[in-house]
Amino acid sequence: MSKIVKVECLPVSTPLKKPVIMPNTRITSIDSVVLKLTTDDGTVGISDSGDTSSWYRGELQESIIAMIANVIAPRILLGEDPRNIEKIVAKMDLLVRDNNQAKATVDFALHDLKGKLLGVPVYELLGGRTLEAARQGWVLSAGKPDDVAAEAALAKKTGFALFKMKIGYGTMADDIAMVHAVRDTVGPDAYLTIDANGFWNYEKALHIIRKLDPCGLDLIEQPLPHWDIEGMARLRGQVKTPIYADESAQELHHLKEIVDRRAADGLFLKLQKAGGLVKSQRWLTMARLAGLPVHCGCMIGSGLEHSPSAHLWTSNEWATQGLNESIGPLMIHGTMESRNIEPGTDIALNIPRFEGGLCYPNEGVGFGVELNEAFLASHATPEKLARTVAL
Ligand SMILES: [Mg+2]
Repeated sequence: MSKIVKVECLPVSTPLKKPVIMPNTRITSIDSVVLKLTTDDGTVGISDSGDTSSWYRGELQESIIAMIANVIAPRILLGEDPRNIEKIVAKMDLLVRDNNQAKATVDFALHDLKGKLLGVPVYELLGGRTLEAARQGWVLSAGKPDDVAAEAALAKKTGFALFKMKIGYGTMADDIAMVHAVRDTVGPDAYLTIDANGFWNYEKALHIIRKLDPCGLDLIEQPLPHWDIEGMARLRGQVKTPIYADESAQELHHLKEIVDRRAADGLFLKLQKAGGLVKSQRWLTMARLAGLPVHCGCMIGSGLEHSPSAHLWTSNEWATQGLNESIGPLMIHGTMESRNIEPGTDIALNIPRFEGGLCYPNEGVGFGVELNEAFLASHATPEKLARTVAL
């Protein structure tokens, strides 16, 4: 038996090479929390929360650090055997309402730690390998139609299998013009989607999706606010384009409501939204039962943040059938392949390999990721406090 004796939360800010533009939001830096769990024999499990945002998860660096350092560490983690992940996840759900990004950050570090203690990669803990590499989609920041279309052409040439547009650069007409320009560029057979991130109301969604139906989009992600599952069901009956749920689909009871109301044609999973790897596996089982395809998105994050989804997407057979757009390291470093990333500029010293639109999880124990301690020191978020809690 080993036990957790130290929990460290470090606020880190990683600059983006190119800002990401979404409705009401312009992201220039990824503010995340790196977590280290140390056992009594000196083994360290690590994780990175990925991008924090008030509007997507409603969690900030400060709230994640406070929730872990004030509640989860003293009341659940310290003194516990880190291999008991199911037990720890159950306790987190009992003691902490929501805060799934904080819970996921803990769940990720536990998996890394357990893999290291047992001497296996995390994908072995999740069922073993179903695939060598996860197929990736490319996420296009909203922008001028010609600029977005040019980026989509490059992504297609690189080998990406899905092209997802964000909206909100200008007017609704600008968004529609952007979709037409990208469809013309990538061709009629390319898998093309848009993500509205819940920023439309029913009337606006109906109007714009009817205008977009002729573009043959493969899906529209979260057209309505997360709480409007009934509206998503009505909308589905009025448009041709398949409707997928992202923000609406968080906990299992949300999935049940979506399934019961037939409110979506498919689902988007983000591990931080679902609350970690244990809860994501339950989520995938429920999606499989309902016959709903699942694509995996990302929070935008480092090579360390990306690793849990890379391991899950190459070890869960239902997930394997979907497309993964967990390309945080590429978005941060402004490139489509990891070989172009300057060494030493990421939270991970060894970023997983992204090549030809595929991502290969690192080999080695746990996530197989080495922390870049020099980067953590030089990119500590100004004026935010790191916390350490120990037995
Ligand atoms: Mg989304």
